[in-house]
Amino acid sequence: MISIRTKRRSAARAAVYHRLAVLFGILPGALAGIAFSIARAHPIWVDEIFVARWYPHIRLLASRAASLPFAIAPIAAVAVGLWAAAGLAVSIIRSAYQGSMRPICAALYRRAAAAGLAYCLLMSMWGIQYARTPLMETYEYIATAESSSAVVFSAAGLNGLKSPVEQLCEKWISQANALRKFVRAVDPERILRQTPAMFAQARRAAKFLPDGPIPQPKPSGIDGMLSRMMIEGVYIPFTFEPLVNISVPTVDLPFVACHEVAHSLGFAREDEANFVAYTVCMLSSEPAFIYSGVMTALRYSLARLAQTQPRQYWALLERMSPAVRQEYTARSAYWNEMRNSSIARWSNRLNDLFLSQAMRQANGVRSYEQIVDDLAGNGV
Ligand SMILES: [Zn+2]
Repeated sequence: MISIRTKRRSAARAAVYHRLAVLFGILPGALAGIAFSIARAHPIWVDEIFVARWYPHIRLLASRAASLPFAIAPIAAVAVGLWAAAGLAVSIIRSAYQGSMRPICAALYRRAAAAGLAYCLLMSMWGIQYARTPLMETYEYIATAESSSAVVFSAAGLNGLKSPVEQLCEKWISQANALRKFVRAVDPERILRQTPAMFAQARRAAKFLPDGPIPQPKPSGIDGMLSRMMIEGVYIPFTFEPLVNISVPTVDLPFVACHEVAHSLGFAREDEANFVAYTVCMLSSEPAFIYSGVMTALRYSLARLAQTQPRQYWALLERMSPAVRQEYTARSAYWNEMRNSSIARWSNRLNDLFLSQAMRQANGVRSYEQIVDDLAGNGV
């Protein structure tokens, strides 16, 4: 008799949990997915409602979170991971004890609800900006078939003219050679402290940068793990934190710090965050920032040239000064060492899935490289 009553009580409790999970997890997740589909069809609504009216409040909140001297996100991620794993382990034991799959199904169901809620929060606090009007359109640059690098490169191959990307590489190599002697030893913490000031400085000339507070990026606190995952930095919308892996080669550091801050200002797409970072670095008064901007743009462009015009690529490497060439090859060696590990491959795959499936960016991880087209198209 008692056992029947207990079973009824637990069934009633399960029904309540079920309804709560639908109400606070699965339903908000589904609604966020629908809202994102509508937003993608109407970028102007995202610009006028989310970017102009809602996101400034989020950024105000973010500036408060940025005042904490350490990164909250890795601690929160470990706590959530432990909670999810421990709960699942308990439900497996209970399933085995009761001889029923119900506890495991209930645990999986709760985690699906938590994922739905997380997706809804991600979208409403930041992610919907993947659907805003592309920066290159508001920057008065409209991509055309003629400006696509494939066409430019094939034309260059046919008539022997230098492609825009090759010309840019030449310009950046000259600039890097001249700048290198002004760059002193880079202190990672100092670079992070200087980053908000570099944005404030750039904002005077780059009108597309929004007004309002600019957060200071933080050291990730998990640099070794991020390096093994081939991650230089990450923006965490749940804690409003631009995090930087400060163990990366110092030539990358100012650019990465600017890239993550660009995300926090609402430039969600990877090529746009790269474009903003490049702009801020180039408008900076600090040689370390300018050099980092030049070297990063050069690296992306040389990678494109290596695929399409290998002869020009090798010729251009010869034009680097010994110091610049040494830095370029040392950086490549650092990342090549990490690249072939299984954790790096998994991390890249997950990032690709996040960008292409959750955020519906057609080019996935290749969207980082689109900065080459953005820069060549704008004749920077
Ligand atoms: Zn990014």
